[in-house]
Amino acid sequence: MTEFKNIKNIPKYIFEKGSISSLSDIVKEFDGFVVYFIDKFFQDNDVKKKIPARRNDLIQFIDTADEPKTSLIDKLCDQVKANGENCTCVVGLGGGSVLYIAKAVSNMLTNKGKAEDYQGWDLVENPGVYKIGIPTLSGTGSEASRTCVLTNVEKGIKLGMNSDYSMFDQLILDPDLTKTVPRDQYFYTGMDTYLHCMESLNGSYRNVVIDALSQKAIELCREVFLSDDMMSEANREKMMIASYFGGCAAGNVGVVHPLSAGLSIALGYHHGIANCLVMNILEEYYPYEYVEFKDMMEKQKVSLPTGLCSKLDQKIYEKLYSSSIIHEKPLTNALGAEFKTILTKEKMISLFKRI
Ligand code: ZN
Repeated sequence: MTEFKNIKNIPKYIFEKGSISSLSDIVKEFDGFVVYFIDKFFQDNDVKKKIPARRNDLIQFIDTADEPKTSLIDKLCDQVKANGENCTCVVGLGGGSVLYIAKAVSNMLTNKGKAEDYQGWDLVENPGVYKIGIPTLSGTGSEASRTCVLTNVEKGIKLGMNSDYSMFDQLILDPDLTKTVPRDQYFYTGMDTYLHCMESLNGSYRNVVIDALSQKAIELCREVFLSDDMMSEANREKMMIASYFGGCAAGNVGVVHPLSAGLSIALGYHHGIANCLVMNILEEYYPYEYVEFKDMMEKQKVSLPTGLCSKLDQKIYEKLYSSSIIHEKPLTNALGAEFKTILTKEKMISLFKRI
């Protein structure tokens, strides 16, 4: 095994307003049937009319109230197999959750066993069926990353299928698709890119390519969130590219993401808002970005709920701590190998109490 990292990029993407119309030409090439996973949000929307579904194709609307679970992937995979044997293309149209589902199902159509068997690093053995990603929200970077994050409820873990096979073969980046996103959600999700990249740039595990992509993504986020309207046409274009660069960078995170994961596991908050709730109390660790984050919220008139964790049961505080502190790599990246003496249990719980 070589010790050198051999990096894969997304082979094809279209970036243009209205480019969802190109989908019909792209899927025409496939002999078998196509499976579409579409966010339920678009069920009664004009976007649905742009889906070039043919007779044997399968359309599944996905409810994103919960983040994707391994059990859901197995269930969806069975449904695809019940539709026929020759699925040759999987299309995901939606936010991060739907894109992760599309990637995971595509992989499971060509690999034996259950989705949970492939949570980890480079465990997927065979390439999945052709994957097309069409993001309708910008920020998680899931369109560009080599993972699909899944929650395994029985084992209590949230972990991705990290593999080159978990990357899309084709992306359609159409900024018109983010026009209808609710403002708060647009902000929370967009900040995922900003936070991811600033954690990476403040950490000790660094690399010139990751730094360059992260710096550009942050610059675009600043232009978007410090402007008068983060959702103007030009800003939605910029945000889509910031998210793509952030996903390509996929740098190492720091203090925000581990605590955010704790909030998701212990209290069920979605990733975007959980990140923002955590950033809102981390002035001590990221003083410069904290001020900038507050400015961005004010400028875009976005608010965050408060008092969510001030009076919880001791057991919940324990769970918040244990599901955050297990993220050793990011915490080491941010605070060094002795992170447990800096971010003690007492200290972390006192931080959570301010959320
Ligand atoms: Zn994130």
